[in-house]
Amino acid sequence: MAEFKSSAIDCGVVEAVQTRAFDVVVVGGGPAGMAAALAAHKADARVAILEREQHLGGILRQCIHPGFGLSHFKQELTGPEYAQRFIDQVQATDIALFLNSMVIGIDSGEPTEDAALHTVTLMSPAGMLQLTGRAVVLAMGCRERTRSEIKIPGSRPAGVFTAGLAQRYINIENLKPGSRAVILGSGDIGLIMARRCTLEGISVEGVYELMPYANGLRRNVKNCLDDFGIPLHLSTTVTRVIGHDRVEAVEVSQVDEHLAPIPGTERIVPCDTLLLSVGLIPENELSVAAGVELDPRTRGAVVDQSLQTGVPGIFACGNVLHVHDLADNVTTESERAGAAAAAYALGGGAETDAVADTGCELTVSPAGNAGYALPGRITAVALTKLNFRVRRPVDAARVKILADGEELFAGKVRAFKPSVMESFPLSAKVIQRALDLGASEIVLSVDPVEEA
Ligand SMILES: Cc1cc2nc3c(=O)[nH]c(=O)nc-3n(C[C@H](O)[C@H](O)[C@H](O)COP(=O)(O)OP(=O)(O)OC[C@H]3O[C@@H](n4cnc5c(N)ncnc54)[C@H](O)[C@@H]3O)c2cc1C
Repeated sequence: MAEFKSSAIDCGVVEAVQTRAFDVVVVGGGPAGMAAALAAHKADARVAILEREQHLGGILRQCIHPGFGLSHFKQELTGPEYAQRFIDQVQATDIALFLNSMVIGIDSGEPTEDAALHTVTLMSPAGMLQLTGRAVVLAMGCRERTRSEIKIPGSRPAGVFTAGLAQRYINIENLKPGSRAVILGSGDIGLIMARRCTLEGISVEGVYELMPYANGLRRNVKNCLDDFGIPLHLSTTVTRVIGHDRVEAVEVSQVDEHLAPIPGTERIVPCDTLLLSVGLIPENELSVAAGVELDPRTRGAVVDQSLQTGVPGIFACGNVLHVHDLADNVTTESERAGAAAAAYALGGGAETDAVADTGCELTVSPAGNAGYALPGRITAVALTKLNFRVRRPVDAARVKILADGEELFAGKVRAFKPSVMESFPLSAKVIQRALDLGASEIVLSVDPVEEA
């Protein structure tokens, strides 16, 4: 394997920034980046992975609990075990690996026959380096929402952490964040941290959730809360942080149907630690600076069916595209992005995807209870995987596909939950039907079924 760790880069007096050329440059070395890189390499592209940490693996390095690999490997693995399988595969190839390398910019030029299209600039302890690639895959993952983003009133003592930071402290740094914790948010990271804290001897006073339902996967509510006797308080939120130097307690209040705290329901819960599991934000500052349009619903890029963004040759996958609950789904999606990026890079430009002569240009919009639909654009008449999430849980609903007010498809009646990312195969026939109607938009709707 050609490995370009930072120490290997010449850090003497450099007059011009060094440049290296690749077919596909992958930004991020988590499960998304590794799967994309391996798929592009399999298609005979010259590939580089750029990762700001010293190790590949992304966030999975700190997810030491089991539950990974069930669909991809048909075997239950921990996060590090799952990641290691891909690290081993990457290391068995000549994929160039730039670790300890923070990507600080992506510049895109006009596509030409032989010139590289994109220039990716990275900083490492050895200095600045530029990689050129005909295609770039964005795989930068997510970051967690913090206290300031949900504006919890009160004092500002030590002891307020995002759940993922506490996960890193415990699982990687061997540090104990506190002794008595309250967890705000019932997303999967919060549920997993409730169990982790309990196993580490930290008393968990309860998990408090603003919504009237748990936000994490059902299996995590069962395995992490029910099995450990940790209470889950729905329709309840933290309304004040109390403490001077260190958190001493939090005030919790019940909320009404508009999610506003109900006066008179305040309760003080003594604790020294508040863990926040209140959502993830795709890390898209680089993408925006590169001219990539974002979907305000996913906060990830608007992509087409091959996961190509609106900037030709820039693809996106994994949590930077939309938040996934299962790493296995990240892998499957990212393999598609890597293969499409290689096809673009080796095929010489944008016209590689059975797209060019179909005249197909449809936007995909969510409606009803569907919170988002991905891809947001369809440019080929071909079987297309649609991903979506519902906004609220519903016991009986069906997926409908509409164009120009006409119903083109109606799925089976079933239950939907916001915690589960859904996928749906949109057939070429339905896409063609929308085009025949002269539609420019396909609408994906998840409508509750009325009781007879
Ligand atoms: C705190 C946290 C805990 C989670 N816990 C679980 C869990 O328990 N179970 C589960 O199934 N899922 C969990 N997830 C979801 C999990 O992130 C995804 O399933 C999956 O790991 C996403 O893969 P990814 O490659 O898209 O992102 P990541 O794994 O986040 O990888 C992104 C990589 O990109 C790198 N990067 C970002 N920006 C740059 C840059 N500018 N230059 C160079 N490198 C860059 C990062 O360092 C990182 O290594 C968790 C997510 C978070 C944030």
